[in-house]
Amino acid sequence: MYAFRIHILKICLILFTFIIPFSAGAWGFWAHQRINKMAVYALPKPLFYFFKLHIDELERSAVNPDKRRYAVEGEASCHYIDLDHYGDHPFDSIPTSWSLAVIKFTEDTLMEHGIVPWKITWVYSSLIEAFKNKNGERIIKLSADLGHYVADAHVPLHCTSNYNGQLTDQHGIHGLWESRLPELYGASYNTLVGKASFVDDVNILVWNSVKGSYAAIDSVLEYELLATNDVPIDMKMTVELKGKSKTTTYSKEFCDRYHELLNGMVERRFTGSIRTLADLWYSAWIEAGQPSPELFDVSMDEQTPDTIDLELNKIEKSSIPGHTD
Ligand SMILES: [Zn+2]
Repeated sequence: MYAFRIHILKICLILFTFIIPFSAGAWGFWAHQRINKMAVYALPKPLFYFFKLHIDELERSAVNPDKRRYAVEGEASCHYIDLDHYGDHPFDSIPTSWSLAVIKFTEDTLMEHGIVPWKITWVYSSLIEAFKNKNGERIIKLSADLGHYVADAHVPLHCTSNYNGQLTDQHGIHGLWESRLPELYGASYNTLVGKASFVDDVNILVWNSVKGSYAAIDSVLEYELLATNDVPIDMKMTVELKGKSKTTTYSKEFCDRYHELLNGMVERRFTGSIRTLADLWYSAWIEAGQPSPELFDVSMDEQTPDTIDLELNKIEKSSIPGHTD
C-alpha cells in the first residue's frame, strides 16, 4: 500500500511538473506587484506624491521584465545568478565590478550563469539619468523594472543553478516558494518598512541582497524535505480549481508545515525587497540632485503595456537560455 502511494505521489509530481506552468519569474505576479506597490509608501515627500500618482502603473509593470525574457536578447540572464557556479566561496571569487568580472570569467560565462546584481546597478544608473532629465515616463518604467530585478535578487532559488530543485529531486520547489507561499500567506506579511534612506554604496547593498538569498538556499531545500516527511505522503499535493481548469498544486497542509519551518524567511525576503527598492528609488533621486517631481514630463510617447503584451504573445518561447522559470 505504501509503495502504491509513493507511486501515485510520483505520478502526481511528474504531472505537476508539466501541468503547472511556472510563474513568470521570481515571486509570481502577486508578490512582484505588491513589492512595487508597497515600496511607494516608504518614499518621503515630495517623491511619494509622484510615485503615488503612478502607483497603478508601477504595480502593473512589475512583471514586464519577465515578459521581455522571450523577446529581448540577454534579458533572460538578468533575473538570476548561479552563485554556486563560482565555487564554495562565490563572494570571494566574483568581482563586483562588471568589467573586472568580464576579464576574470568572460562575458559569455557571466551571461550563462546570470547577471542580476549587475543588472540592478545598471538600471539604477539609468534611473538617475531619467531623474536628471526629468523624464517622468522613463522614471516610472525604470522604477518598475528596478523593482522586478531587486525582488528577483531576494529569492534564494534565483541564486543557484538548482533553481527548481531539479538537482535534488525537488521539482516544483521554485513555484512553491515564490508563488504558492506568498499567495497563501502574503496578506499577513508586514509591508510597511519605514522611510527610505539614502544608500552610500549601492554595490554593497545589491551584493548583500544576493548574499542573503544565497545563505538561505540550504534551508529552502532542507525544510522542503522535512515538510515532506511531516505530511502524509498522499497529502502533499492536491487538485484545485483555478478558473474553469483543475490544477495540481501543493496542499494547504503541506504549505502550512513548510511555511512554519521556514520561520518567517519568505516574509523577510519579501519585506527586504520592498525596503531595498524604496532605498534605491530614493537614492537615485538624491543622486540626480533631487529634481522637483512637479517638473517631470509624463507624456505617453512610449509603447503602452497592451502593445507590448500583444507583440510578446507572437514570440516563440522555446529559445530562452538560462533558468526556465
Ligand atoms: Zn524575473
